[in-house]
Amino acid sequence: MGSEREDIQRRRRHLHEELRALSFEPLMRGSIVERVRKCGRANCACARDPSARHSGQFFTVHLDGRTHALHLRPEDEPRVRQAVAAYLHLWEIINGLTACELSDLRREARERRRSRRRRRP
Ligand SMILES: [Zn+2]
Repeated sequence: MGSEREDIQRRRRHLHEELRALSFEPLMRGSIVERVRKCGRANCACARDPSARHSGQFFTVHLDGRTHALHLRPEDEPRVRQAVAAYLHLWEIINGLTACELSDLRREARERRRSRRRRRP
């Protein structure tokens, strides 16, 4: 039979292909958050009126022991979103590969038990 083994191999192969494809893409851990802020110009309405504050997208990540926050220009947002999505996809692949190895180890243990039973008189 061996169909479970083949199924695991097929899944593993597929995940490794995805992993290889991901290795060519920009990858970023972190998140994109919307923040409201004052722009700092004294003559701007935002200096006095809280409702006139500017909203913008920020990329934040905790790296090397501190939190980095970078304001994102609208034109940079899609590529940062894509890099964050690639990072999340990487974790899906890692979880999928972990599940494959787990299934394989369990299947091998089952087969060992089965052959031990067969050897018994
Ligand atoms: Zn302002």
